[in-house]
Amino acid sequence: MAISLNISDDQTRAALAARATAPPKESLIGLSRAEMAEALVSAGIVPERQAKMRAQQLWHWLYVRGVSDFDAMFNISKDLRASLAKTFTIARPEIVEEQISNDGTRKWLFRFPPRGAGRPVEIETVYIPEEGRGTLCISSQVGCTLTCSFCHTGTQKLVRNLSAEEILTQLMTARDRLGDFPNRDTPDGAIVPAEGRKISNIVMMGMGEPLYNFEAVKKALLIASDGDGLSLSKRRITLSTSGVVPEIFRTGAEIGVMLAISLHATNDDLRDLLVPINKKYPLAELIEACRSYPGLSNAKRITFEYVMLKDVNDSIDDAKALVKLLRGVPAKINLIPFNPWPGTNYQCSDWETIEKFADYINTAGYASPIRTPRGRDILAACGQLKSESERLKKHERLALEAMMIAGHGD
Ligand code: SAH
Ligand code: SF4
Repeated sequence: MAISLNISDDQTRAALAARATAPPKESLIGLSRAEMAEALVSAGIVPERQAKMRAQQLWHWLYVRGVSDFDAMFNISKDLRASLAKTFTIARPEIVEEQISNDGTRKWLFRFPPRGAGRPVEIETVYIPEEGRGTLCISSQVGCTLTCSFCHTGTQKLVRNLSAEEILTQLMTARDRLGDFPNRDTPDGAIVPAEGRKISNIVMMGMGEPLYNFEAVKKALLIASDGDGLSLSKRRITLSTSGVVPEIFRTGAEIGVMLAISLHATNDDLRDLLVPINKKYPLAELIEACRSYPGLSNAKRITFEYVMLKDVNDSIDDAKALVKLLRGVPAKINLIPFNPWPGTNYQCSDWETIEKFADYINTAGYASPIRTPRGRDILAACGQLKSESERLKKHERLALEAMMIAGHGD
């Protein structure tokens, strides 16, 4: 049976309430080493000549050891720890809820404090354990400015971009909760890969268009992949975009992670309807950008996501057009059964149709896994979320969760 934990005890609640009334402190999470050194000096906490060494020390505590409290940094003097705590924060977001499915899928509802005059925001992060790997699906924005017609997030206005800190703390908090930092135990009963890291892969496939929040996403992913810190291989980080062409090349050149493209159609007329950003950056430009993505090879391929919509894009002619379109691009094709939501005019293709489509592209030489939905029971249970903490309506939340879990890449 799926379980839902409320892990905010009284002490945590009191601390959070105090934080809500106090002026916000700058977080050290999400700063580069140089920015961290500069922040320490300009706060008058550390003399210039020590700044680089201190930043390195803090970096290690934050990203290798995973501490979330300055007091745990035992090789830093008590006085300095107190000054740091007065000016800066390294706190995690509030965990409003954690749900665990009986297939091991976990879902957290995180609340981030308001920025400026805004309100607190809530986002979800999903963990999908599989044989040999564990994937964390991370959000980059609250809502989305794009309006893909089959996606429920597309009907929600953008509330705001997430900061680099908020993107990273999704990963760090998930690692806390799975015991995935050194010298931490995995909580009893957690379903995680038998060997290696509990979170071995991350996918930017949650809410939002990551390439419309490029700078924050770049900062967060460079820190996540820093070899002297969180240390995730760039080969195990996948960024999914609906096709923001100018930023695709920058992603390859400046971030260097794996790329996934939400393709969904093989001609401009249909893609204009499904993924309207196509009107700005049509297929020919998108495929050209993919071809010139740095470092592609047979071992480093682009994933093309293709949502299976009944009688819209699921015929064998569509499969043929897909194979033709991707000719010459080192590609994997990820077929995603459509997750319906109330009010949508689309339906998911029949299973038989999806299999025929997959067979065709397999025969043409493409690996084409069909994403099986995970964590169904916790999707059903999310109606139990407290209504006052809900920004999304229940059916909106269900559709988003289904999307995050189905589209988690490979
Ligand atoms: N905004 C980015 C990343 C998030 S979406 C993007 O569009 O790529 C992650 C994947 O889920 C995308 O491929 C998206 O097209 C797909 N998706 C969105 N809504 C869906 C739905 N209702 N059913 C199945 N897949 C969906
Ligand atoms: Fe935004 Fe991606 Fe949904 Fe399109 S599919 S509306 S880009 S989240």
